[in-house]
Amino acid sequence: MSAPRIDASTQSLTPQQEVARVAGARQFHAVMDWLRAHTREIADRQMELTAIPAPPFGEAKRAAWLAERFRELGLRDVETDEVGNVFGVRRAAGAGKAAKYLAMTAHIDTVFAAGTEIDVRREGVKLLGPGISDNGAGVSALLAMAQALEAAKIALGMPVVFIGNVGEEGEGDLRGMRQIFRHDGPWREKIEYTLVVDGAATDTVIAQGLGSRRFEVTVRGAGGHSWSDFGVPNPIVALARAVARFSVVQVPTEPKTTFNIGAVSGGTSVNSIPESATMRVDLRSASGEQIDKLEAALRRAVHEAVTETKAAQAGQAALSYDIKGIGSRPAAELKDDARMLQVIRAVDAQLGNTARMQRASTDANIPLSLGMEAIAIGAGGAGGGAHTLHEWYDPTNRDLGFKRIVMTVMTLAGVE
Ligand SMILES: [Zn+2]
Repeated sequence: MSAPRIDASTQSLTPQQEVARVAGARQFHAVMDWLRAHTREIADRQMELTAIPAPPFGEAKRAAWLAERFRELGLRDVETDEVGNVFGVRRAAGAGKAAKYLAMTAHIDTVFAAGTEIDVRREGVKLLGPGISDNGAGVSALLAMAQALEAAKIALGMPVVFIGNVGEEGEGDLRGMRQIFRHDGPWREKIEYTLVVDGAATDTVIAQGLGSRRFEVTVRGAGGHSWSDFGVPNPIVALARAVARFSVVQVPTEPKTTFNIGAVSGGTSVNSIPESATMRVDLRSASGEQIDKLEAALRRAVHEAVTETKAAQAGQAALSYDIKGIGSRPAAELKDDARMLQVIRAVDAQLGNTARMQRASTDANIPLSLGMEAIAIGAGGAGGGAHTLHEWYDPTNRDLGFKRIVMTVMTLAGVE
């Protein structure tokens, strides 16, 4: 038996016409009505999940909470994979097992280290607490969407997999997404569209992944007493030379390419020749090729600086160095005629919403780098103070964010 194809009758429609059709559909209004009627509960959920600490590599408790919610909602095949990503499936109406999935994802990790006091509270309409917006807003939107589709009994043409993923922030290095899209994983071939919901707001569409590569450079030497061992090559001096050499490297403004030496450490006391010195370097570019060039320049600068420092103190104990990669996010972008891009543009036009296209480093980098369709958008409302203890979220205009998500999902997946 062939499954009813929802898009059969819409094939000749432009994306704008398809979106207009969804906007006028009873199902769209049923979902929005549910969301509006549950504003308070959605905010309560957001506070509840934000209060569960989820530091990088410590997301398990929040993941367990989310899996629990997914089960309560009646999502199928709820599971947590080996890195801690949580999955819940909503089946398509009448579609066979072969149907491709729409993935809606929200990262569950925060930047806050284990032990950080997570004080979540309300002040008027505002919600406060570290992580309340990034990504309490996204995760609560993910849950609300799953719940609203279920409550309004919406039959979608594609199965949807809701994913709370780990490892988006900092040193997490997108490990959650890497796991989901690893070449031998169960999801790589199944997912057609990835809708990443991250943070608040409705004014951006991220369809271009900013590439970044991060390194920790360490120079080591014998160390010694500042007076009696004078002349032993000094790792801090070598590192300083490396910084001086590297920081004059010319980078293009187009494609935009940047570098930053963000942290330096080393040495023990003012009267000791240090045994080691370390710096952390962040390289970014819209182009993978430029990042390769910058990495080569960094390696050259360190090599020459160490060689020069050794030469200046010839005959002394050696200096060594190593350059360790501590993060890599591929640069990639969605083609202009990609379906997701056409749909989100049409959705924004339908809603009279102005959103600019932005290049950023998000969970979408991973599917984008594999040539798959993915965009990242905000969950609506307003947020601020991200990555600080003073983070806040104001759900006042969240409705627009929900409309954007619901219309996008319904247009991409098709409504019966
Ligand atoms: Zn985020």
